Amino acid sequence: MVTITFLGAAQTVTGSKYHLSCNDLDLLIDCGMFQGLKALRELNWEPLPVDVSSIKYVLLTHGHLDHTGYLPRLLKQGFKGKILGTAPTLAITAIILRDSAKIHEEEAEKANKEGYSKHHPALPFYTIHEAEDIISRFNSIPLDEWQNLGSDVEAKFSYNGHILGATFITIKAGGKDFLFSGDIGRPDDLLLRNPEKPRWAD
Ligand SMILES: [Zn+2]
Repeated sequence: MVTITFLGAAQTVTGSKYHLSCNDLDLLIDCGMFQGLKALRELNWEPLPVDVSSIKYVLLTHGHLDHTGYLPRLLKQGFKGKILGTAPTLAITAIILRDSAKIHEEEAEKANKEGYSKHHPALPFYTIHEAEDIISRFNSIPLDEWQNLGSDVEAKFSYNGHILGATFITIKAGGKDFLFSGDIGRPDDLLLRNPEKPRWAD
């Protein structure tokens, strides 16, 4: 049996995160940060309502912050798995996480110095050290090749335009094909060729 839980990008566009569980394999597809209104941003501080320590892989559709910016937060919740994406996606994600961690550290330091946070001490959302820990778990995946993730589950990353490295991901699990679109690129883009089209999904 396959169970899918929508942990973000539901009733809002940011915070993309989908938990997929099949046989004894737990996956996360994307791991984005919520952005925008305060009520949304506060969701970033809640632990995920799933057992993070049993997640074996996080599959990234692409490198944007609203699809990757929550990754270092998994560590405090017991994550021991690997992060899969295309090589350009992982390169972009590394830049974004290091930059984001630096901003979080600077904001916490400023809040503590100027005493305007209601939290004492104010803590960074995550640290540069935590970002580096997550980056050390990156494993790049070629396009258009089925990857065996174990427990009769396979995944394939397909070209999606949008930004360098961006993909949609097809997952074969429990006899069905599940398709995670990620962000789909536009036709006639100046820099990127048109997105591929999925052939089939359940
Ligand atoms: Zn995007």
